[in-house]
Amino acid sequence: MSKVLIIGAGGVSNVVVRKCAQNSKVYSEILLASRTQSKCDAIAKDIKNIPIHTASVNADNANEVAALIRDFKPELVINVALPYQDLSIMDGCLAEGVHYLDAANYEPKDKAHFEYSWQWAYHDRFKKAGIMALLGSGFDPGMSNVYTAYAKKHYFDKIDTLDIVDCNAGNHGQAFATNFNPEINIREVTQKGKFYKDGAFHEIPPMSEHKSVDYPSVGPRESYLLFHEELESLVKHIPEIKQAKFWMTFGQEYLTHLRVLQDVGMTRIDPVNFKGQEIIPLEFLKALLPEPGSLGSHYTGKTCIGCQLTGTKDGEPNTYFVYNVCDHAECYKEVKAQAVSYTTGVPVMLGGAMILTGTWKGEGVFNMEEFDPDPFMAEIGKWGLPWQEIFGQKLV
Ligand code: NDP
Repeated sequence: MSKVLIIGAGGVSNVVVRKCAQNSKVYSEILLASRTQSKCDAIAKDIKNIPIHTASVNADNANEVAALIRDFKPELVINVALPYQDLSIMDGCLAEGVHYLDAANYEPKDKAHFEYSWQWAYHDRFKKAGIMALLGSGFDPGMSNVYTAYAKKHYFDKIDTLDIVDCNAGNHGQAFATNFNPEINIREVTQKGKFYKDGAFHEIPPMSEHKSVDYPSVGPRESYLLFHEELESLVKHIPEIKQAKFWMTFGQEYLTHLRVLQDVGMTRIDPVNFKGQEIIPLEFLKALLPEPGSLGSHYTGKTCIGCQLTGTKDGEPNTYFVYNVCDHAECYKEVKAQAVSYTTGVPVMLGGAMILTGTWKGEGVFNMEEFDPDPFMAEIGKWGLPWQEIFGQKLV
């Protein structure tokens, strides 16, 4: 029975809070804090079976985070605010000696660049403090890391290639909207593509490599090579991997809107003077776009996210695909969220439960693939993300 501080009150947080309340054997009391307290209150009002409190916090300020921790005394802080807040929340956890978990790696606000080095640099301090940080416990990163670790443990002596495929075949009925925070999403997809091959990362122009992937339960969808953070940790922790790529589907409508927004400068992240006031075009665009948490009510269709691995087992070549299919409308019925928030929020809750029950133990900063995948894989279906396997067939 543990108290948890959850920071952030957006689409993912809504799912995390409801799932923690469903898992009341582990989560006994929640403090939900975010920049806008009324958003915390809106989520909290539906939680009846465990005590939940709300607060306002500017999580860019480590002292504010530490003060909340001191006051509430949680055993774990779950960060489902934005990647910009990762380091200040980690600092707050260090100051008060409390475990930390997030779903996306740190990214500085003024540069669209993400990598693990900033958070990995906290390892010795977390170790010295006798606490753990679990990084990237969403779906991708998160489940994708656990799927890879599971494949390695059970089906491969040596992995040669890893392809992570992320398909959203849903329809939210909006001309243009992003399924998670618009600023973070647009920064991610407008970066150069990057993949790992033969010991190094290689860059390609944004969206320049794509292919059709035949997704189970969904069918063929054009999938675009992007850089995603779990590639960095997976090739570090499973160094035998020769090639690792990440693919995501986009509809033509989304790509056309994105190109126009880029062409007219609306995705810029440098300040622009407008009528005597400095504005950042992407921040302004975010204010105009639908909140990801608001997309759920009319969303139809499915997501399919998984990992394809090739390599060898007992000297024989092996190909393996492990994946989850999630239905937007079913998610909305259960937790008032679309499937992208749902598939992220469920592993956040379960990652936290792994720490709080001592199933995953460590001192320092860790990625998901560093722990035994079996208990996670055994539990995740029960919480809403069942997985399936395909043997001996290449989908990518
Ligand atoms: P939202 O934009 O819906 O929610 C973000 C929340 O963080 C908002 O409530 C926002 O408050 C709050 N916030 C922002 N800045 C601060 C601050 N300085 N102090 C306190 N609170 C703050 O995003 P999502 O819920 O879609 O995403 C949450 C996280 O999950 C992101 O880091 C995202 O990258 C990650 N993610 C990970 C995925 C995975 O598979 N691993 C997939 C999808 C998302 P306000 O509303 O007041 O602005």
